[in-house]
Amino acid sequence: MTDFQVVPGTLYVVSTPIGNLGDITQRAIDVLSQVDLVACEDTRHTQKLLNAFSIKAKTFSLHDHNERQRQEQVASWLQEGKSIALVSDAGTPLISDPGFHIVNSLKQQDLAVVPVPGACAAVTALSVSGLATDRFTFEGFLPPKSGARQKVLAALKNETRTMVFYDAPRRALDTLEDIVTVMGTERQVVIARELTKTFETIKSDSAGNFVDWLRADPNQLKGEMVLMIDGYQADPDAISPEVENTLKLLIKELPPKKACAITAEIYGLKKNKLYDLTLAMKW
Ligand code: SAM
Repeated sequence: MTDFQVVPGTLYVVSTPIGNLGDITQRAIDVLSQVDLVACEDTRHTQKLLNAFSIKAKTFSLHDHNERQRQEQVASWLQEGKSIALVSDAGTPLISDPGFHIVNSLKQQDLAVVPVPGACAAVTALSVSGLATDRFTFEGFLPPKSGARQKVLAALKNETRTMVFYDAPRRALDTLEDIVTVMGTERQVVIARELTKTFETIKSDSAGNFVDWLRADPNQLKGEMVLMIDGYQADPDAISPEVENTLKLLIKELPPKKACAITAEIYGLKKNKLYDLTLAMKW
């Protein structure tokens, strides 16, 4: 125990380990030990965590199906001066986990909501992915059905930021096949499986190779996983459809060399490259 004291009338959003209990923070232990109540996604699951740290706490359930009903009750407990911790089964609450409606409504009522940071599978996976981390997008779970999944992937095909998904390993092969269909075999993918646990596996490869690997080794389809897709990297030599259209319009009115020179000036391109294009293309 430290000299930390919970503040009455506060909801603490407490992150818990994603597998390895050693990843709990001292502040999480302090908060969970001192609050009047712990709101759990699954009380039995959280009880195991509390037992592991010999924490005696009163728990109640707060999950996707009762979160809205619990809102008023939680707000009135806080107004009475009770302190409450919100936890999910693992990782950071609200990140593909319950809690959004409660936090949103408490903030609208100017009630205190305090984060107690810790593990989050998405950020943990990204930190060892080797993919760009300066800009990334968290996409949560992909739809379970292939048609809907391919639509989401198609909308992300030209996304230049690293994309982070949560996925059920039993669906991973289907997901990878869809990535190949929509984004091509060469798109780089990283799978981070069983993070912080005994069979932690972090593997990078092209989407096409991943399909072969998962077909050959179904053991890789067990446990929990974060799937990351490298952002779209535009071919620096590619000519955009907009440039091509401009060139086509100008070439109808001007000699090719002149059309290329004007287009090159408009778009800041090399005119020789455009001229090569005019020679190669059927107009
Ligand atoms: N709120 C949690 C967080 O902060 O990471 C995520 C909850 S979400 C319901 C569960 C998903 O997170 C799993 O299906 C998996 O995609 C990912 N996940 C959780 N723990 C993981 C682990 N140890 N290794 C890999 N992925 C994990």
